[in-house]
Amino acid sequence: MRIDRILVGHAPVRMRRPMRSAIHEATHTHNALVEVHAEGVKGQGAALTLAAGQARAVCEVIEDLAGRLHGRDAREIHSLWALMRGRLALTGHSGIGLLAVAALDTALWDLHARALDRPLFRVLGGTATEVPVYAQPGWLALDVEELLEEASSFEEQGFRHYKMRVGSPDWRDDLARVTRVRETLDPETQLLVDANQGWSRIDALAATRALDELGLFWIEEPVSVDDHVGLGQIAASIDTPVAAGESVFGTEGLSPLIEHDAAAVLMPDLQHCGGPTGFLRAAVQAELAGLPVSNHLFLEVSIHLLAACPNRYVAEYMPGWWDDLYEQPPAIVDGHLRPGEEPGVGVRFRSDHADTLTTVS
Ligand SMILES: [Mg+2]
Repeated sequence: MRIDRILVGHAPVRMRRPMRSAIHEATHTHNALVEVHAEGVKGQGAALTLAAGQARAVCEVIEDLAGRLHGRDAREIHSLWALMRGRLALTGHSGIGLLAVAALDTALWDLHARALDRPLFRVLGGTATEVPVYAQPGWLALDVEELLEEASSFEEQGFRHYKMRVGSPDWRDDLARVTRVRETLDPETQLLVDANQGWSRIDALAATRALDELGLFWIEEPVSVDDHVGLGQIAASIDTPVAAGESVFGTEGLSPLIEHDAAAVLMPDLQHCGGPTGFLRAAVQAELAGLPVSNHLFLEVSIHLLAACPNRYVAEYMPGWWDDLYEQPPAIVDGHLRPGEEPGVGVRFRSDHADTLTTVS
């Protein structure tokens, strides 16, 4: 199956609700879209940024890599992955470059599974299992009443896990908000918090000890993920599991978190791993360390990968970011998602986005 055409384009998509976390503020997702064609079959992949210029930069790298893939057999995915990473040797195996690899690698897996007329998780030897999913975002920008309204609305939709943001300048404000939400939610509903690396190590130690009393499901990225020692100290000083991994790149980035016992749950990010090929390596790395894996964003693809991981854990769902990108976003029922039986990844770019892609190779 020779790759005979690759198309690329930048698709800005308005978020249903603007975001604000400890480190991000945005109204749109800026997606770099790619479509790989081989002998009449096409696969699609996307990379996410929060800035138009960054999405265009990813498209430029995809265009460069596309020239190397043209004419190659689309099914030789592991070789193509190594080829693309090799092309990045001078500029590094992270950042914009790896996002471009991720979009292309996703498109190649989608194409491969479509050519076989099977869903991706079945091609990967996965299980048709329901995976529990947590809802969010619980942004810092919401006041307490808005936060409670959002959390209750997810409970009414059947979610049994809800994640809210912490990482405020004064962690005592976070404690008050989390306490209010914990008291309001059904006792059976699990509450997760995510500091998005917003606390200093001193504040994080104090905040996580106080939050430890509330019986949270997990505390995510309490400090910078580069502070492996601090994360390890925090994880050792509380009973609540610490989750981390979305901000590092590839298995190389996860290794120090494992070495420092910095997290009880790893949540590799599809695009920071360089696509499904790298995510599956990260999941095996976690399994060998005795750790469960969740995902970071990109649930429509990650659900297939988690279905193929025996150490899968509760999955992350970000509502309202890509609903206007895909024809049929995955349907979550009673807080659970089952990978679909449609061929490939099972979702397609909406035609108003797909029609804007231009041929680069
Ligand atoms: Mg997070």
